[in-house]
Amino acid sequence: MDVKNLVIIGSGPAAFTAAIYAARANLNPIVFEGFMSGPVGGQLMTTTEVENFPGFPSGIIGPKLMENMRDQAKRFGTIFITEDVISLDLTKQPFTVNGSKKYKIQTNSIIIATGAYAKRLDITGSRDGEFWQRGVTACAICDGAAPLFREKDLFVIGGGDSAVEEAVFLTKYGKKIYIVHRRDELRASKIMADRALNHPKVEILWNSKIIEILGDDIVKEVVIENIKTNKIEKKSAGGVFFAIGHKPATDFLNHQVDMLPNGYIKVLPFSTKTSVEGVFAAGDVQDHIYRQAITAAGSGCMAALDAEKYLLEKGFLD
Ligand code: NAP
Repeated sequence: MDVKNLVIIGSGPAAFTAAIYAARANLNPIVFEGFMSGPVGGQLMTTTEVENFPGFPSGIIGPKLMENMRDQAKRFGTIFITEDVISLDLTKQPFTVNGSKKYKIQTNSIIIATGAYAKRLDITGSRDGEFWQRGVTACAICDGAAPLFREKDLFVIGGGDSAVEEAVFLTKYGKKIYIVHRRDELRASKIMADRALNHPKVEILWNSKIIEILGDDIVKEVVIENIKTNKIEKKSAGGVFFAIGHKPATDFLNHQVDMLPNGYIKVLPFSTKTSVEGVFAAGDVQDHIYRQAITAAGSGCMAALDAEKYLLEKGFLD
């Protein structure tokens, strides 16, 4: 079987940036962009206006940004395979990448850039086809500035650093921000928690959960249950934001690279090298801290440069 230089797995800013760099370095990269594992383009496909990606002073629609990156990678010769990767064999060189349909590829190096999913709860009204992306989202930083949320009562679900950070961020736009937390104590660090606790526009609904989201075209109300007292209350709402953590997309790896205790891929500091030589990780699958499109793109660039250096040092390139 013909052995390839580099397979990139994923389809977000990290994967496409890695592909742009690798293709321009004549590594002839192959990108498994997924099929059922989520939208091609990653999390930016489910957001609307992206206002913080440098180079777009008037903002850019998330799916358009990803289409541009994909086209840019294609222009330099990247081959795209629209299949999920279902398994890898990283135990011997060349590595084997098994696609979900017809592709099985052998390659000297791999970049894993499969991203992470924002976790959602299965609340009535929150699902796809209901109010998902019509007032319900899983990223306040990405979506919070949308006109839809201006001067409305907004609800953030969660009690960790993300929830309090997103609630404080939303105070710039919303009228009042409620944090709906299932316990009577925040998980967030004290310094972050204090910012929310001391903010005049933020109120925490302790021991509470949203049991239903109601509206017409967009979100208009939420039904909240206090799980200690069982009291049920309806509140006017302009938006609901899940901030209950992320899950990196690593199941297909079958633990063949070392992971951090929180499930993210472990990389060497200031590098994209994983515990397996020749296998690199970029973007949200190895980043539980920054998780931004621009940091994902930056680490995609790093991974392509690391892979090129590895291929050269090992004598895989002519
Ligand atoms: P997290 O720390 O795992 O917190 C998730 C929160 O969601 C918890 O409060 C949890 O409740 C709640 N939750 C989880 N599942 C739930 C469910 N089924 N129903 C209701 N609530 C649920 O996640 P995170 O806040 O995204 O933070 C992830 C990591 O990133 C952390 O290490 C955090 O420190 C870091 N981070 C740092 C910053 C910063 O420093 N600027 C900002 C954001 C995130 P319980 O508390 O009851 O478990």
